[in-house]
Amino acid sequence: MTRIAIYPGSFDPVTRGHEDIVRRSLQLADKLVVAVAVNLDKAPLFTLDERVNLLKTVFQDESRVEVRSFDGLLADFAREEGARIVIRGLRAFSDFDYESQMALMNRQLYPELETVFLVPALHLTYLSSSLVREVARLNGDVSTLVHPVVDQTLREKFSG
Ligand code: ADP
Repeated sequence: MTRIAIYPGSFDPVTRGHEDIVRRSLQLADKLVVAVAVNLDKAPLFTLDERVNLLKTVFQDESRVEVRSFDGLLADFAREEGARIVIRGLRAFSDFDYESQMALMNRQLYPELETVFLVPALHLTYLSSSLVREVARLNGDVSTLVHPVVDQTLREKFSG
């Protein structure tokens, strides 16, 4: 049986923190679907296509990673994909409250779906897409925090 896991998020943009979680997930699952959420409360910096394409480039050498976008309920998308594991990253304790609510709601909607929380490498614990966007917007150096292709795309975004 192929163990399929799903890693949902905004990925606006993908950071070294997300990459760390993806690589750890591949030790638990045979195949990982990175699921880029269409619905966002705030307008994202990168379009859905840009976010998907950046992820595809970053993981182009990982044959077990598939990048997809999804609209609607994660529980429904997970069912369609045949996934029974949801991966989420836990950074600070402050992530826990929201994440546990989401996990319980997803279990309510899809009882066979287990949420697995993974902790990143210590030096990536304080990294978030929002911080990366903010620093890049102010012309700060984010080259150690994101893949080179993301760094380049951020520079282009903010140069005009
Ligand atoms: P969302 O809007 O769903 O939180 P994000 O793209 O911000 O989307 O995050 C997707 C997932 O990746 C979340 O589970 C988040 O906790 C996790 N994540 C983001 N950055 C890191 C990081 N530096 N280390 C570990 N997990 C992270």
